[in-house]
Amino acid sequence: MEKKNALENAREQLRLAGDYLEIEENILEYLNYPKQILTVNCPVKMDNGEIKMFRGYRILHSDVRGPGKGGVRYAPEVDMDEVTALAMWMTFKCALANLPLGGAKGGITCDPSTMSDNELERLTRRFTSAIIDVIGPNKDIPAPDMNTNEQTMAWIMDTYSMQVGTTTPSVVTGKPVEIGGSLGRSDATGLGVAFVLREFCKRRNLTLKDQKIIIQGFGNVGSSLAKNLADWDVKVIGISDITGGYFDKSGLDIREMLDYISVNKNLKNYNKNERITNKELLGHQCDFFCPCAVENQITEDNAESLQCKYIIEGANGPTTPKADIILRQRNIEAIPDILANAGGVICSYFEWVQDLAAIRWSLKRVNNELENIILESFDNVYRMQEERNISFRLAAYLIAVDRLAKAIRYRGFYP
Ligand code: GLU
Repeated sequence: MEKKNALENAREQLRLAGDYLEIEENILEYLNYPKQILTVNCPVKMDNGEIKMFRGYRILHSDVRGPGKGGVRYAPEVDMDEVTALAMWMTFKCALANLPLGGAKGGITCDPSTMSDNELERLTRRFTSAIIDVIGPNKDIPAPDMNTNEQTMAWIMDTYSMQVGTTTPSVVTGKPVEIGGSLGRSDATGLGVAFVLREFCKRRNLTLKDQKIIIQGFGNVGSSLAKNLADWDVKVIGISDITGGYFDKSGLDIREMLDYISVNKNLKNYNKNERITNKELLGHQCDFFCPCAVENQITEDNAESLQCKYIIEGANGPTTPKADIILRQRNIEAIPDILANAGGVICSYFEWVQDLAAIRWSLKRVNNELENIILESFDNVYRMQEERNISFRLAAYLIAVDRLAKAIRYRGFYP
């Protein structure tokens, strides 16, 4: 059975690109490890008066191309290896989109579904003050990730601002617009995935409206991808969330499902469609399968059973390197995470720029610029995979790793 370690996977992806590009061993070694790891232990007073300890991390993988950038994740599975892998993927994602940013990630090992808002606020504020020395508008800029949202970012921004003595919106992105957030940020990752899917269809002469899509995950990314596809009249035939899979071969009613989760948190009692398991959803026939949940979903163990033609990765790290080999043998093409889900960090970059310059962009401008940047990345990757007859993932990594290696060579080694 394949070991599911996100960090090993991220390192394997880097190694494959490094070998292909014949990059110096010292540069690969440099990128193989994060620049800085901060582990913190946060005591939090729970609502029942008890003090509970929470382990948190902020990991800066690389700031060679600019300040660290990446989300903060709250989940029971969070550990140092996972956060390191996610930070590495941020470095490659920002380099591929050619943003002047490096890669970082944070996380707290906790189960937010069992915590009250007050407990989450105290945890977030304590975590922020514990990592205050390593974050900042020119150092490392956190953002939302799994189980964190604009409220979490508002608490981080407020705690940081209170400690440094000046209101500093540019310390985090994904904030509410009322305190310096950007229009379009909450929808940006899913919209970016939708742009990539649409562009892929265009290049392959596939009629967008004829495609049958399955989305794994109905969180921020999956739900906004579904919404954008529904707006374009594209059929989403399957969706899953933590409560299982929902299927309708003639197309799910996405707007109704979105209304449902806005009231009910998850789809558990949404009884309108056929229910299937997550495993059945993965193995169901469709044109595009879009994993938008967590890492390690498409592995050596199930890659043979996938019945889709293409994969567009909305999640970070959903496909393992061993699964990638099987997919390639089976002619299932996968558009990798560092390209397909870059819309979130691209919009975060716009938010940071707006905050630093104290200006505001219209939603139209945000979405147009997002489309321009993600399609330019897509075009670079598409041409590279065609020219060299390699996978989209390898092509994306070649571009990202080459840019990083060049930056490292130009900067040289201090002192
Ligand atoms: N958490 C998101 C990601 O994995 C966004 C990070 C950001 O906006 O900085 O790409």
